Amino acid sequence: MSVNKHDVVVIGAGPGGYVAAIRAAQLGLNTACIEYEPALGGTCLRVGCIPSKALLEASERYHEAKDGLGDFGIKVENVGLDLPKMLGRKDEIVEGLTSGVALLFNKNKVTRYSGRGRITAPGRVSVTGTDNVEIEASHILIATGSKAAGLRGVEFDDRVGTSTEALSYGEVPKKLVVIGAGVIGLEMGSVWSRLGSQVVVLEYLDRILPGMDLQLAKDAQRVLAKQGLEFRLGVKVTGVRKEGDRRVVEIEGGEGVECDKVLVAVGRTPNTDGLGLEEVGVHKSERGFVTVDEHFRTNVAGIYAIGDVIGGAMLAHKAEEEGIACVETIVNGYGHVNYDAIPAVVYTHPEIASVGKTEEQLKEAGIAYKKGIFPFKPNGRARALNATEGKVKILADAATDRILGAHILGAHAGDILAELVVAIEFGASAEDVARSSHAHPSLAEIIKEAALAVDGRALHM
Ligand code: FAD
Ligand code: NAD
Repeated sequence: MSVNKHDVVVIGAGPGGYVAAIRAAQLGLNTACIEYEPALGGTCLRVGCIPSKALLEASERYHEAKDGLGDFGIKVENVGLDLPKMLGRKDEIVEGLTSGVALLFNKNKVTRYSGRGRITAPGRVSVTGTDNVEIEASHILIATGSKAAGLRGVEFDDRVGTSTEALSYGEVPKKLVVIGAGVIGLEMGSVWSRLGSQVVVLEYLDRILPGMDLQLAKDAQRVLAKQGLEFRLGVKVTGVRKEGDRRVVEIEGGEGVECDKVLVAVGRTPNTDGLGLEEVGVHKSERGFVTVDEHFRTNVAGIYAIGDVIGGAMLAHKAEEEGIACVETIVNGYGHVNYDAIPAVVYTHPEIASVGKTEEQLKEAGIAYKKGIFPFKPNGRARALNATEGKVKILADAATDRILGAHILGAHAGDILAELVVAIEFGASAEDVARSSHAHPSLAEIIKEAALAVDGRALHM
């Protein structure tokens, strides 16, 4: 087998790995990236962020055309669903973006190897698959991401699966049970509910969206329930029973829920199978995540890890930031990720967006804070959009006024949050945001009002 030499080899071409590879090449390193899936882009582009957002957008348009345009004085008759076309559009978007990554690799002279990467020694990786090569590289970057977690007692079959299957159901399930009221559960539950499924969401905890601001999570639950999602909280699933074509999701101490599809969305686990970590001696946490220091170095010299495989927020942009910081540190000696300024967005309708600390976290840390809340309802643009549901909440340090967290439930929450992410990155105060001019009429004005509300001086309420 031939031995190919590179400065850095990245294992995994998800958003963490492919972006790290491009940045390494930009910085002048002879860079290679190994991926065993035929398409580049990882979970995010193939079976995650992108296809789910394509279906969220399409299903929202369908729902709006069917039930939402009357308020605007628009009459629409005979609205129908062409599911194969909707799924085909999603697949085309995925194809376009994943092949775009291949173009970026060519443009930046990143060598792509198709196959499974396995670390055989520090500085040495073997590839088996379409390509069969040995690679020597001073730096090895593990970016192998994550896979859907299973659930004890629940066997996957043609009717019980993960988000990957839920992105491609061939027909609209009459009844869909979603196990887990996290991000995937709410996003994919929304898609199929809009397309006509009866959706029941079973959640182990007594709340939805653990980790997000509790008040907004409660508001979101109320809004999504109004849209037709049925939530059963504090429920322990013990198994799924087959009854012909039907499935019965069994619940501890309660009656089973019969349905025709089950989506298991109870989190994701790191992808480290067959990577050679045990043989090389790379440490993992109890939950199987690769452990790294603040510079993404594992305990073995020359081996680094970033993205979902190291844990923390499982978000594409977090993986990207880590990939960039890791290679910049290798080349320049510095690079950083500000975890307080990593946004998180749930693309339901309305969206739920969050950055920095929640009230619960500030209370637990004993940090005194002020809060400013402003609803969407009085905002002119929100009214024009027929999107008056929701609020912006800004949390600022009680003594310094520095913004510590921001949480939004409302239309385009993910887009308007970006201003507050930058504010946190720049160490801005609520007063800084309040004094900035915001276009009128725009949803961003709600942010200005919430910033004014931190000091008790909102103008339109
Ligand atoms: P991955 O994207 O998982 O990429 C890892 C890659 O490594 C994969 O392509 C895999 O095939 C490859 N690989 C693994 N082992 C090997 C090996 N031994 N050899 C070669 N290749 C290997 N995040 C967001 O920020 N926004 C969203 O809207 C969003 N929506 C999501 C929706 C769904 C349904 C799902 C499942 C996830 C979503 N996420 C979203 C999460 C996001 O997809 C992940 O956080 C992100 O993809 C992590 O990037 P990564 O590069 O660490 O890993
Ligand atoms: P999650 O961690 O967001 O939610 C899992 C939910 O399942 C939690 O509410 C948890 O309490 C619940 N749960 C766990 N075990 C259970 C059980 N036995 N019975 C019932 N409920 C149980 O995980 P997810 O929704 O699977 O998403 C996986 C990852 O993908 C997340 O980390 C998320 O950040 C990422 N993702 C992000 C986006 C986005 O950014 N828009 C979209 C989809 C996925």
